[in-house]
Amino acid sequence: MRALVWTAPEKMEIQEQAEPKPAADEVVIRVAFAGICGSELSGFLGHNALRTPPLVMGHEFSGEIVEAGRDAGGLRVGDAVTVNPLTYCGECRTCRMGLTQLCPERRLVGAHRPGAFAEYVSVPAFVTHRLPEGMSLRSGALTEPVGVGVRIGRLAGDVAGESALIIGAGPIGLLALQALQLAGADRIFIADLDPERLAMGGALGGITISPPGSGPGAAGGEDVVEAVKEATAGDGVAVSVDAVGTGGTRSQCVAATRNAGTLILSGLHEETSPMPAAAIIRQELTVRGSFAYGAADFEDGLDELHAGHYRLDPWIVEAPLAEGGDWFMRLIHNPGNVSKVLLVPDRCSG
Ligand SMILES: [Zn+2]
Ligand SMILES: [Zn+2]
Repeated sequence: MRALVWTAPEKMEIQEQAEPKPAADEVVIRVAFAGICGSELSGFLGHNALRTPPLVMGHEFSGEIVEAGRDAGGLRVGDAVTVNPLTYCGECRTCRMGLTQLCPERRLVGAHRPGAFAEYVSVPAFVTHRLPEGMSLRSGALTEPVGVGVRIGRLAGDVAGESALIIGAGPIGLLALQALQLAGADRIFIADLDPERLAMGGALGGITISPPGSGPGAAGGEDVVEAVKEATAGDGVAVSVDAVGTGGTRSQCVAATRNAGTLILSGLHEETSPMPAAAIIRQELTVRGSFAYGAADFEDGLDELHAGHYRLDPWIVEAPLAEGGDWFMRLIHNPGNVSKVLLVPDRCSG
C-alpha cells in the first residue's frame, strides 16, 4: 500500500509499505479521508517530542472496515467508521472519571503507532465508532477535531446569554466558536492575525476583531482587549478561549475576561509563557486547561456532527495523499481560507 511517511523535519514522501494485519482486538480500515491537524504541523517541523520519524501521521479520519480481528466486538467488514485515536486503559482513576484523554497509558494513533495518512490503517476496535446512518465519510473525518470543540464547550460551563472571546480562528477556534453558540452564548468575539481565517469566524457568526499587524496594509487594527472592553461596557467577557497558546494571547485572554469569569487554555503554541498571575488573582478567574476530548466528548462530537451542528465547510480542501507534504508546508506558511485539509488516499495527483 501507499503511505505518506514523515522521514525528517519538513520532509514527507510516499512509500510503498506492507498492508497492516489486524490483531485479534483490532480492525483494518481502508482510509477514505484523513485530516491534517495543527499538532501535526509542529510535529512535521520537528518541534514535538511525541512524534519521531519515520512516522505515518494522521489521527482525524474515516473509512471502511476491510478486515476485523476475531475479538473486534460488533464491528463488521464494510462498516463505515471513524476512530477516537487516543486509546486508553479504561481502568485507571482518570479513565473511571471519564477523562480518558488523561490516562497515563494513553497512546495516539499516528504518533505511537502508524496513522491514517495511508491507504490502510490498523486500529483497536474499542475506539472505532460506526458512523450514524446517513452520515458521510467526509463528515465523519471531522469527528476528532469536533470532539476538541465539544470539550471546550463543556468546560466553558453555562454560557447561555453570556459573552465570550476566542483568540485564534484555526479549526479549533472555529469549532470552539460553534460549541459556545450551541451552548447559547450571546455575543462571541473572535480574533486572529490572519484576515482570511478571521473572515471564516465572521461567516460562522463571530464578531471579528482584527489585531494590529494583520494582513498587508493593516497597520491599524484593533487592540483585542480594548475592543472587547468597549463592547462589554468595560466588563470583559464571561468566558475566553485561547486557541493559540502564546504568552501574548494567554495574557490578552486574562485581561479581556471579566471578574469571576472563566479562561480556557487550549492552544499549545508555547510550552511555557509568562501569565499575569496577579490579575488572575484580583479578578478571581477560573483558569482551565482543555486537552483533546474524553471518550464521551468524542461520541457527542459524532452525534452533533451528524445533527448538522458543526461545520467547517465551505473551507475544506480535499487533496490526494501524495500532495500531503505540500499541504503541510502551505498550512504552516500561508493557510489562507482553508479550515481543514482532508487527504484522500484513493485519489491520484494532478
Ligand atoms: Zn487532531
Ligand atoms: Zn486509564
